[in-house]
Amino acid sequence: MIADIALIDGTVLTLDADGREAEALSARDGRIATVGSTDEVLDDVGPETAVVDLDGRAALPGFIDTHLHVPMGGARMVHVNCRSPPNESIADVQERIRERAEGTPDGEWIVCSGYNLGLVWEAEDRHIDRWDIDEVAPDNPVQINSVGGHTGSIYNSAALARAGIDRDTPDPEPPATIERDADGRPSGLVSEEAEIPLHEAIPDETRADRRANVERAIDRLLEWGVTTAHEANTTPEDLRIYQELEREGELPLRLGTMIQGDAGEDLGEEGIDLLSRLAETGVRTGFGSDRLFVVGVKYFMDGAFTGRTAAMRDPYEGEPVPEDSPQYDGVLHIDPEYFAERVERAVEAGLRVCVHGQGDLAMDHILDAYEAVLDPDEDHRFRIEHAGLTRPEHLERMADLGVCVSSSISFLGADVSRNWVYWGDERMDWTYAVAALQEHGIPTAGNGDWPVATGDPRVGLRTAVTRETVTGEVVGPDQRVAVEDALRLYGPDAAYLGFNEDEKGTIEPGKLADVTVLSADPRAVEPAEITDLDVEYTVVDGEVVYDAERGHVY
Ligand SMILES: [Zn+2]
Repeated sequence: MIADIALIDGTVLTLDADGREAEALSARDGRIATVGSTDEVLDDVGPETAVVDLDGRAALPGFIDTHLHVPMGGARMVHVNCRSPPNESIADVQERIRERAEGTPDGEWIVCSGYNLGLVWEAEDRHIDRWDIDEVAPDNPVQINSVGGHTGSIYNSAALARAGIDRDTPDPEPPATIERDADGRPSGLVSEEAEIPLHEAIPDETRADRRANVERAIDRLLEWGVTTAHEANTTPEDLRIYQELEREGELPLRLGTMIQGDAGEDLGEEGIDLLSRLAETGVRTGFGSDRLFVVGVKYFMDGAFTGRTAAMRDPYEGEPVPEDSPQYDGVLHIDPEYFAERVERAVEAGLRVCVHGQGDLAMDHILDAYEAVLDPDEDHRFRIEHAGLTRPEHLERMADLGVCVSSSISFLGADVSRNWVYWGDERMDWTYAVAALQEHGIPTAGNGDWPVATGDPRVGLRTAVTRETVTGEVVGPDQRVAVEDALRLYGPDAAYLGFNEDEKGTIEPGKLADVTVLSADPRAVEPAEITDLDVEYTVVDGEVVYDAERGHVY
């Protein structure tokens, strides 16, 4: 047998059930052929074989990220970056907007992302406002989106003028807000329903823009070593774009899609819900190819911790808000009874539910619905996305039911973790409880919900091992795991969440030849330095699609 590709003279972490290691591997026709010593693999090398000398570097099963947002990730890449780090002050954010405004024609919108409305800047002890933005971008309407959403955006004067918002605009119905200064002038922060006229003033993204965002996002994922991504809220338009890319041979990684579910509020004139429509078409979980396949149907139980809208059993800590505020103890985005009906309908339709759940109250509702409907003896693999706060009793229930978790472990190690002053220490101990999830035998994968946090699996790996936040504190140290166990989150256990464990997630003969090559063995470096490892090659189907030296090569 002559291989198409051989990777030799390195460390191959197979992540197989026995934790085997090797020096080399070969692949043919998109499948792993030989895993063994360099000498064994050299037997497969012929004149046509592409030989990659690993030179001591580490080959791992290609990273599988089980929850991210492809078009949104690509869109954010071209927004002005308002994250912190790198920004440490209002002045830093102003500088970035100034730079963008200089290269943007007058009158054109400038969109900025990643601003953290959860905490004020230490340098100025306040948020950026319309006048700060006016100083650096007087001739462009500017929108600053907040990280994670749900808490409004900040606009400059040109933007507010386009939407007709001024001091005479009446205050909206709560929870929507138009924040005002002491003189009653809108300060720029607008939220919820009050933001609609502003959203309408921003020109719609064209289909070409959307496809470009998808392509940009995919290139970034390859740079991060991701070979399979689960897109966590796929619209019909997006699914068409992915199919188009696959047909054109322009889909260099594998994409699982969670079809965007409904919340029961807008079922159209016929009142037919999404699952009923899907059931009629016969589309089931797994439908598609090994490049593009249906992962399940996506629902949202509650809000996000960044906007302190995750549904909690107990109120948030920190800055007090009225009891009727969504930020008092969070919000539910779907009626738990309607959700339970969806779960039942999904089982009938052969579609797996993936539900966003963050707070401990959301976990209660999700598990109530799952318990009422799911047969624990069936191989259903119904999922909970994020699983921000799981209590010990939730873990028991998940284990008994066979529920899987896609844990947003990267949130802890990313800038969004700064919001966690609102959780308090006791809850922090049970956030993204990877060690406890694994100890209970709950299939657990990792994610960063990109672009909410990063989609770089190295951040998830480092955070699972260190539990260190960007501000340097260690959160819930009992939940730290060994590097080998962290790797499962993006390897075999992530493959299990895609129903793909027979095809990928480990390096074994016969499996799809998806491999990520890192500059060193992640077990051989200090845990804090896992994010310093370079992704050297990303291999999908036995083909190098990203090479650190040559860039994207598909
Ligand atoms: Zn998400």
